[in-house]
Amino acid sequence: MTMITALDTFDVRFPTSRELDGSDAMNPDPDYSAAYVILRTDDPSGLEGHGFVFTIGRGNDVQTVAIDSLAHMVVGRPVETVIGDLGAFARTLTDDSQLRWLGPEKGVVHMAIGAVVNAAWDMAAKHAGQPLWEFVARMTPEQIVDLVDFRYLTDALTRDEALEILRSAEPGREDRIARLMSEGYPAYTTSPGWLGYSDDKLAALAEAAVADGFETIKLKVGLDLESDTRRVRLARKVIGPHTRLAVDANQRWDVDTAVAWMRELAPWDIAWIEEPTSPDDVLAHAAIRRAIAPVPVSTGEHCQNRVMFKQLFQADAVDLVQIDAARVGGVNENIAILLLAAKFGVRVVPHAGGVGLCELVQHLAMIDYIAISGTLDGRAIEFVDHLHEHFIDPVEVVRGRYRAPRHPGFSAQMREQSIRDHLYPGGRVWTADPEELSEPVRL
Ligand SMILES: [Mg+2]
Repeated sequence: MTMITALDTFDVRFPTSRELDGSDAMNPDPDYSAAYVILRTDDPSGLEGHGFVFTIGRGNDVQTVAIDSLAHMVVGRPVETVIGDLGAFARTLTDDSQLRWLGPEKGVVHMAIGAVVNAAWDMAAKHAGQPLWEFVARMTPEQIVDLVDFRYLTDALTRDEALEILRSAEPGREDRIARLMSEGYPAYTTSPGWLGYSDDKLAALAEAAVADGFETIKLKVGLDLESDTRRVRLARKVIGPHTRLAVDANQRWDVDTAVAWMRELAPWDIAWIEEPTSPDDVLAHAAIRRAIAPVPVSTGEHCQNRVMFKQLFQADAVDLVQIDAARVGGVNENIAILLLAAKFGVRVVPHAGGVGLCELVQHLAMIDYIAISGTLDGRAIEFVDHLHEHFIDPVEVVRGRYRAPRHPGFSAQMREQSIRDHLYPGGRVWTADPEELSEPVRL
């Protein structure tokens, strides 16, 4: 019997604030970061599971400690028990009564659980010799529903209804896998739209995005209406009438401001407004949606758990949602959210970017296409061409489409040298004086 022998965390930070990459209305100086976790085993093959929470700098101070606090439920457990029943493993972590007090099922502890659950999934898919999307997409409907915690969901989605959704997507799975392998999954890009960029940089990057085959681009908005109107008009002029143009306010507004602002931007044919207001405010999203129809409203990347998604759907508050691979409680809870979205007929347009989020969430979108919603209609995974070189199995986006990952695992594993160089505060990129470099760490 092989055991999980250690849970090791690493504070990995990239100094992205130096170039304003990733700047938006609420996050003017992000240092894209990963609170990174490795589950080690005594398996003779060297089997490990890698996972992380994405933060934007100082969040790592707290997040790495939260991940460490889960070690007592992970270290010393048989590998076979963990990867043989990942539904039970995820529920063990969310049910720890002392840590649950800090949530429940939201915030720093829940994100830490997500990282550890995702690391266990990475381990399971590596053990199976399959990329995660294929590992899950080839499970039976019964195996997939067993992954989901239906607690708090049954007024909107029962286990039987979820089974029905999965069974009705079973015919055609093989055709969709073949199509995914040959054509990939649609992507959209946010690269032209960061708030800190000049108009010239915006125009050049928007033009390049269309030339690269992207059918949707997205701009950050929300700081200054006059500037946003100018940037949206410029982007629409550059990309022409056929490329979709979305905007993202990153939670900047109250309801009245959102409505007034979007009425000004609506004439440029907006594909959706993302995160107009607080991610916790279901009724505000519903009010904004009613007021600015037919402009579609979306949220989700900061949505803390499946219960919030359920309410957004029940209240007709959104036209589409972003899922995030590293915000909720891991693969299991995202499958619950994908099933809820399928039940309510809401499109899923996954959030990515940051560091490693594209690598992770592509697998979830592909699981949705093969085994849950069975469709690509109106769907695209966010893409930002940034920091992928730090991963051993980086995303591959060709002509505006994600290629399906082929390597075993969750594409979560960072290169050892990248972890060493970006360790905070002792790594090479953070230390001007080589004499101050931290001791080499075991990776
Ligand atoms: Mg966003």
